[in-house]
Amino acid sequence: MRVCVIGTGYVGLVTGACLAHIGHDVICVDNNEEKVKLMKSGQSPIFEPGLSEIMQSAIQAEKIHFTSDLAAGVAHGEVLFIAVGTPPLPTGESDTRYVEAVARGIGENLNGGYKVIVNKSTVPIGSGDWVRMLVLDGVAERQKTLVPAGGVPSNEKLPEFAAEFDVISNPEFLREGSAVYDTFNPDRIVLGGNSQRAVALMRKLYAPIVERKYAEDQSLPPVPILATDLSSAEMIKYAANAFLATKISFINEVANICDRVGADVSQVARGIGLDSRIGNKFLQAGIGWGGSCFPKDVSALIHTADDYGYEAQLLKAAVSVNERQRLIALEKLQKVLKILKGKTVGLLGLTFKPDTDDLRDAPALNLIEQLNRLGAKVKAFDPIVSQTGLRHGLSGVLVETDAERLADGCDALVLVTEWQQFSTLDYVKMAKLMTHPVIIDGRNFLDPEVMIRAGFQYVGVGR
Ligand code: NAD
Repeated sequence: MRVCVIGTGYVGLVTGACLAHIGHDVICVDNNEEKVKLMKSGQSPIFEPGLSEIMQSAIQAEKIHFTSDLAAGVAHGEVLFIAVGTPPLPTGESDTRYVEAVARGIGENLNGGYKVIVNKSTVPIGSGDWVRMLVLDGVAERQKTLVPAGGVPSNEKLPEFAAEFDVISNPEFLREGSAVYDTFNPDRIVLGGNSQRAVALMRKLYAPIVERKYAEDQSLPPVPILATDLSSAEMIKYAANAFLATKISFINEVANICDRVGADVSQVARGIGLDSRIGNKFLQAGIGWGGSCFPKDVSALIHTADDYGYEAQLLKAAVSVNERQRLIALEKLQKVLKILKGKTVGLLGLTFKPDTDDLRDAPALNLIEQLNRLGAKVKAFDPIVSQTGLRHGLSGVLVETDAERLADGCDALVLVTEWQQFSTLDYVKMAKLMTHPVIIDGRNFLDPEVMIRAGFQYVGVGR
């Protein structure tokens, strides 16, 4: 099938590359010329395991093309994905201006023939109908340009201009760090909309993925497709993220109580996670959730509830527990080092989770800001940020090129991101290089006994 993906970030580029990999003809559109240039040369502007490989093979097979020309993308696609960002506004609402621009742009460039416009961006509930309206506005704008100078003679009609399309909400559930894997191995595919024709086309598009042709375990039953109305599909995305964020806030609350009563939250999490009603995922206590999705999506849902006169108390509590939790490493540092002014603190990891280069709303950024405010010097080592030089926008922190340079002269380390390679660092050597060998394990990732044997004073979260 002919596909156009508009917006080539973590969601759009992965979607485009994966759809090209399974045989569709894809054009990816982005209005960032630099990115387009990079992608045309076969390079991915983001770090995501496996992405460069499938991108390059799709380029070689001529299954994927990159452009900044929206008109060309719209002309090509029978399925048009909107995958632009919806970042948070200071009020907590979603900033939908990029979706708006794209929807109007699609309308202005519709060239006849039936199209399915697929909203993959996470958008406030009700956006499906709004996108439809904006596309029609775009169509009307375009139609105005078709009126000849001097107007249409009264005995003639405006030139016919076909704009046959449906809007589908197809929320994305991929996780940064395993986005390609998640696209080929989804738990479910949600298709919201009331057009049978559009849903049928989407089923055809996703058939190879549904049939597990590219899955790690091809013997699994087909991927469930959930066909819903537009609003329910949009709500599913928000509810899923709000639930996961709340689950983490819950275990962090339990961890803080564990800290006080002397229980070990790792054992508690295992004990409750074995209950199949609870499940063991998203029960890792630590320094709180961040990233480009959870904070903005929970805030947006709270805001939507507010708009309808409902106070989302549980979600507000999940946010406030998280805000406090993001400062827990600071509290622990103060407990051990007392005065932070003039001390040097080293951060192991900067990104909001491992296997990504994404720094958006990462807990490390809060920590850097607060440590600077209290007069501490901050250094950091992150396997991706340190090597790719993605220091853009980072201030108040010296980015080191390896963990030993980081440890050198530090009064304490804080493990911020659970990168797998942090489990095998030479901690004996690192402890010797430090002024005070203290480690705050912000993700309960390291083995306390191993760290103590390496010479560290070990402090976890709730253990
Ligand atoms: P991103 O910021 O990484 O990428 C957005 C891209 O859209 C950028 O490359 C930008 O240049 C491009 N863009 C903006 N305006 C454009 C326009 N008018 N025309 C063409 N391109 C334009 O965003 P992302 O992280 O991929 O997220 C996209 C959406 O998917 C968001 O709504 C997000 O909430 C949702 N989502 C993200 C994730 C995730 O893990 N990142 C997961 C699920 C859903």
